[in-house]
Amino acid sequence: MSEKTQRQIKTLSRRSVIAGLAAVPFIAGCSPRSTWSTTEVDVLVIGAGIAGLAAAKTLEDQGFSVSVVEADSRLGGRCHTLRLDDGYYDCGATTIGPAYGRIRTFANLAGVELVAPPSRDGFSYHINDMFVGPNEWENSKANKLVGDERRILPQSLEFTLVQRFNQIKHLFDWNAPEMLQYDIPYDDYLLSNGLSKEAIRLISLTSNSMSLSATSALFQMREFARLALPNTNKNEGEVYAAAGRKNYHYVKGGTSNLIDGMAGLLQSTPRLNAAVTAIDVSAGGIEAHLKNGDRIAAKSVICTIPYSALGNVKISPTLTGDKQNAVAKSQYTTTTHVFCRPKRAYWDDDGHPAGLVTDGLLDRVFANKGNDGKVAWLDVWLNGANAAQLDGLSKAQRNEKVMAELARVRPSTMGNLEVVGSYSWGNNPFVKGNKQVLAPGQIGSVYPFMASPWMNRLRFAGEHTRSTEAGLEAAAESGMREANAVMERVL
Ligand SMILES: Cc1cc2nc3c(=O)[nH]c(=O)nc-3n(C[C@H](O)[C@H](O)[C@H](O)COP(=O)(O)OP(=O)(O)OC[C@H]3O[C@@H](n4cnc5c(N)ncnc54)[C@H](O)[C@@H]3O)c2cc1C
Repeated sequence: MSEKTQRQIKTLSRRSVIAGLAAVPFIAGCSPRSTWSTTEVDVLVIGAGIAGLAAAKTLEDQGFSVSVVEADSRLGGRCHTLRLDDGYYDCGATTIGPAYGRIRTFANLAGVELVAPPSRDGFSYHINDMFVGPNEWENSKANKLVGDERRILPQSLEFTLVQRFNQIKHLFDWNAPEMLQYDIPYDDYLLSNGLSKEAIRLISLTSNSMSLSATSALFQMREFARLALPNTNKNEGEVYAAAGRKNYHYVKGGTSNLIDGMAGLLQSTPRLNAAVTAIDVSAGGIEAHLKNGDRIAAKSVICTIPYSALGNVKISPTLTGDKQNAVAKSQYTTTTHVFCRPKRAYWDDDGHPAGLVTDGLLDRVFANKGNDGKVAWLDVWLNGANAAQLDGLSKAQRNEKVMAELARVRPSTMGNLEVVGSYSWGNNPFVKGNKQVLAPGQIGSVYPFMASPWMNRLRFAGEHTRSTEAGLEAAAESGMREANAVMERVL
């Protein structure tokens, strides 16, 4: 690579990469690979989820040769649409937030259409052994909340109450030293702010974690600060305003269409069924070993494997110190979906909305409407410990158990639902969960090392290495961040 090209790459600021994927063909005409004849590719990208695809696209756009390897038999990781005869069902990510600039740019480049989220029927409740509708909730015996908590519907408790004492005033400094006093168990924090024990119990049903005591309050406040601060903090509001604050979208036809579109933007073709089993890192480059015996040599590797599954890969030299600690201590929550279609309108029988929040096994049932405005399909969404406790069952056993529980808590569903599919993220061996959740005390001790590279050439991307954004946007941001870092070093 010429000195001129190196200078050009070094002048590529993070801002210009992040600002737009269509950014600048600034090293057009250069052929970096030719100077590294000993390498098979410039950069190996492990994992073909959003982070991996975003990294590969960013690198290829700047003339680097890339190989993307994916352990699974499909692309997408936690973007996974079940495409069935009667429709499509998203097992992973669905919602594209208003500020998802990178994801929206990728969708635009790939010609992938974004549409309004489906409308949903409301929730009924089976709580404290009673089945009640939303209008009855406030004065129901099932409602054991205290004071003005009683007026809040169970699915809205967490956001409403936590926002009252969300300590994050500056989103981009959410983990500043003075904030670490809130890096404590989430349930303790809620209790110390006057929430009733019942409110905390009900929040644990809808909160995306294994348990509130194993979740850092500061981590969870960041989730909500992202959603609310753009409206309340001028500086950060300006950053977010460009995206248009109120628009949420889904991918038309399912999120896997976004993945297919992004893969279609690449010059290289991601390899499926290509699990990496070992990565050898040296001062001059890396060599990765695949399960089928193949090897790939590269100058750098961007590894997007969730830390929940990174133990499947032998890294040498072995991770040590803070990096090893960050990987080993990472905890993931999990989710299981059971999708079903109503054979008839069971909700007419009990006169309450078709959706459900329960304090039993099922957590939540989302009742999605079709284009005709009628409830078309249900998504039984089990979270955390409830999802994990079914992971040892076969699919058929799991579906049967879920239907039996639904019939128990809401008898009108009995015999009136047909299961069309289900999916457990805990049982996906390459992901092993839904998302990484920082435990109390980890924001000071683990978080700073989540994204740090190993010997510079082994770099880590993926939602678990996120900063302020979440989900899909965090994954895209992380992939681009590491691609940029590789380019800044000129491999
Ligand atoms: C149920 C659910 C709902 C969600 N809803 C939303 C939502 O509405 N909005 C939102 O923004 N986000 C949502 N998310 C989060 C979002 O899906 C993820 O943050 C994002 O897709 C993660 O992308 P990633 O590339 O970091 O990781 P992944 O998508 O997990 O990609 C990692 C890839 O690495 C592969 N891999 C693992 N091991 C190896 C190996 N040894 N060799 C090769 N490849 C390997 C995996 O198979 C996988 O494809 C949801 C997630 C779940 C599970």
